[in-house]
Amino acid sequence: MALTPVQVRLVDAQAHAARATWNLLHDFWTMTPKCRRSLKAADEAIRQARKEIDWLGVLPAQAAQAVLKAYHQAWKNCWEGRAGEPNFKARLRTVMSVDIPQGRDLQITRVHRRWGMVSIPKAGRIRFRWTKDLPVGKHADKDNRITGARLVKDALGWHIAFRVQSLDTVPEPRTSPEAGIDAGVNIPLALSDGNHQDHGRPARLPNGTADRDKWLNPDEKAKLLRLEQRAAHRKSFRKRGEKTSRRLQNTYDRIKRLRATATRRATDWQHRTTTELARTYGVIVVEELDIPNMVKSARGTIANPGKNVAQKSGLNRSISQEAWGRTVTMLTYKTARHGGTLHKVPAPNTSLRCSACGFTTPGSREDQATFVCKNPDCGWSGNADHNAARNVLHLYRTGHALVPAAGRAVVRRTRGVKPATAR
Ligand SMILES: [Zn+2]
Repeated sequence: MALTPVQVRLVDAQAHAARATWNLLHDFWTMTPKCRRSLKAADEAIRQARKEIDWLGVLPAQAAQAVLKAYHQAWKNCWEGRAGEPNFKARLRTVMSVDIPQGRDLQITRVHRRWGMVSIPKAGRIRFRWTKDLPVGKHADKDNRITGARLVKDALGWHIAFRVQSLDTVPEPRTSPEAGIDAGVNIPLALSDGNHQDHGRPARLPNGTADRDKWLNPDEKAKLLRLEQRAAHRKSFRKRGEKTSRRLQNTYDRIKRLRATATRRATDWQHRTTTELARTYGVIVVEELDIPNMVKSARGTIANPGKNVAQKSGLNRSISQEAWGRTVTMLTYKTARHGGTLHKVPAPNTSLRCSACGFTTPGSREDQATFVCKNPDCGWSGNADHNAARNVLHLYRTGHALVPAAGRAVVRRTRGVKPATAR
């Protein structure tokens, strides 16, 4: 969105008020005895708080209601085992956002091929980049319309995301073609049929370490390095407990903007790639990788810390960097939208097994990129990532696909309470 500095301050104030409402609500909910907790009581409390605290009033009443709805949903997610308990939202760690729960308040008009205008409650008419087809004006009807919006702030400024309701036809179910996908070492996504999806950016630096800033071009990388050096230099003059200077804060903001640009490019590539895959293939098979647990188990405990944490957890495969979990999520809903399905298979040995003869032994990997079979009768050699992708597909074809358990597979336990056997 293109906001004037005054409008930025208005929307910022709304986001702070929304966060404060959440925190007050959480306080109210946890302090109230269980027998007296109800949505009606919470609603009353919000109304009273908005009357008594002036600055909460900058948040439109509809948006305050949306906070209550989101808070209630957070508890439902907790009770049904999908998430932990909701908590207070800290000023510095929380993404700033404001909800606009009703579509008819928005009054969207298109003013240019690339620009539209939208009404934001208490901030006025605001110009925004028109990046997608929206059901507006003569394109809108009972089944295809905008039902609300959400404003979200990142390092590059405020953005608007529209909630759209649309009527789609149910896609024809299809079961071919099939493809196994491996989150590769050198290729971000290697496919079993020899194709691959690459963003053309090397995942590592010449010295072998993962390249965190691969989505920035050389000029931007140089700029980032200069800014980081400047920030470190300025920080060296800061005494303990002294407030961060405006100049230093400015440098930090510029670093954050560059990083946000990189993140945006990575997500864009991910979206385009997964859409392409879901359109092409009817059945997509991936490895089941439990990344948080992989990191946790390798890290060990305080008494017995893990060694070679990065190697063991598989992070040297820069899985975390390529956001594999998000790729799988995108593939799940996108394949469903195109009538296809996504299957998961257990991960062990997919990178060690030879996809030509089935011989599994450690050491078949010559280096990160090439796989040479150690079976004397076979001797197959080829790209290690494609080999793993073919193994993933083989596991699916031999009936090893994992059936998702209902609910969450892990046993949830209140923090701090030891299991009965250990007490
Ligand atoms: Zn072989």
